[in-house]
Amino acid sequence: MTRTPIKNGTVVSPTGRHEVDVLIEGEKILALLERGKSESLNITADKVVDATGKYVVPGGIDVHTHMELPFGGTAAVDTFETGTIAAAWGGVTTIVDMALQRYGENVHEGLAEWHRKAGGNCAVDYAFHQIIGGVDEQSLKDMTYLVDHEGVTSFKLFMAYPGVFYSDDGQILRAMQTASENGSTIMMHAENGIAIDVLVQQHIARGETDPKYHSYSRPSLFEGEATNRAIVLSKVAGNVPLYIVHMSASEALNALAEARHEGLNVFGETCPQYLYMTLEDHLARPGFEGAKFVCSPPIRSKHDTHDHHGDLWKGLRMNELAVVSTDHCPFCYKDQKELGLGNFSKIPNGMGGVEHRMELIYQGVVLGELTLERWVETCCTTPARMFGMYPQKGVIAPGSDADILVWDPNKKTKIGINDKHHMNMDHSSWEGTVIDGKVDTVLSRGMIVIENDKYLGRKGHGKFIKRGLCQYLN
Ligand SMILES: [Zn+2]
Repeated sequence: MTRTPIKNGTVVSPTGRHEVDVLIEGEKILALLERGKSESLNITADKVVDATGKYVVPGGIDVHTHMELPFGGTAAVDTFETGTIAAAWGGVTTIVDMALQRYGENVHEGLAEWHRKAGGNCAVDYAFHQIIGGVDEQSLKDMTYLVDHEGVTSFKLFMAYPGVFYSDDGQILRAMQTASENGSTIMMHAENGIAIDVLVQQHIARGETDPKYHSYSRPSLFEGEATNRAIVLSKVAGNVPLYIVHMSASEALNALAEARHEGLNVFGETCPQYLYMTLEDHLARPGFEGAKFVCSPPIRSKHDTHDHHGDLWKGLRMNELAVVSTDHCPFCYKDQKELGLGNFSKIPNGMGGVEHRMELIYQGVVLGELTLERWVETCCTTPARMFGMYPQKGVIAPGSDADILVWDPNKKTKIGINDKHHMNMDHSSWEGTVIDGKVDTVLSRGMIVIENDKYLGRKGHGKFIKRGLCQYLN
């Protein structure tokens, strides 16, 4: 088996930093060694990674991606191949993508379709959540089968998108009751879709069709209301694990914090776009450019009564928010985002970000919003524990998969279509952003996939990861 020591770096975990070397054998981490120990033990190395002056952290885990998702008459443009290569470039060694079942479709067929798309194509490891877009007797049974046999232990429901992915409160309650029996986690897109659709029609009727009205039609109060409603339903269903995806608003965060204070099994994630972007600076750009930033929940205004950015960063520090994901759902500007020219409600919802999460959240460390340890915790370790992949993933420890990011804090990264950009989109949502740090070397199960600004990975190296249950339950 090949042996690869990573020498002279600072290993960072959620609980601290250690000046140790990491010895990898084959696909696994064999040992953490004191400095100089690998020399005195006379360990023969096939290859040495020099991490002098760098941080050695667990490979990033992005638990919310949508490769090849059909949406709004088109489909997300990253395939599992292009999307996982971009992930590798961003220091991400595991993605958890959302397999799709829509109303009237069969859950097993939806999952099988996702295995067909991903199988043999991925550069890094992957797992699946299952979207349940049609809750009924059959899909409830199928949920339990997936938990017991398929390593799919989390189910995403939508309180938004009536007629597409939407579940009503009764369906949500039934799915939660099923989850409380089989131990799985319910993931919720929490926005009041029925009320949003009324506002959307009213804006369009008034001729307010520009991208910025996407945000005006989805007020943060509706996210707060839906988050609270989801929490109440999960409590009635027996304190079932509830994970609120892509939180963007202070009102929603307040509902989450209250539930957590009460001791409920309620967790939250946010995404970089909600920590950095604003309605004024992004969605309201001249012409149609704001379409690039149309995602749901929407980018919020900086003139709201709440300081959403400040509150979300604080939520991450305080562990009200547990995880940062991306909701990676990339659409090109040309021909895809342009479907909504003259009608914002026809703009495909989503942004590409799988490549930049580790970078953008590290910048939060530079800005003093988070500690280095918390960066690792929210982007690497907690995602693994939240979704039943720990300690195989999310930690640098003997026996764990050798998924490792070597991060150089002394270099810079410029994001942009002509700078760093490997996603399959014709634009970057983060064009011109400069990060004080850089992805240096990335290993996926012991294989170097990024080194010296080169992709060295291989299609099909990435394996499907069967997951266990959430590891945070009260
Ligand atoms: Zn999503």
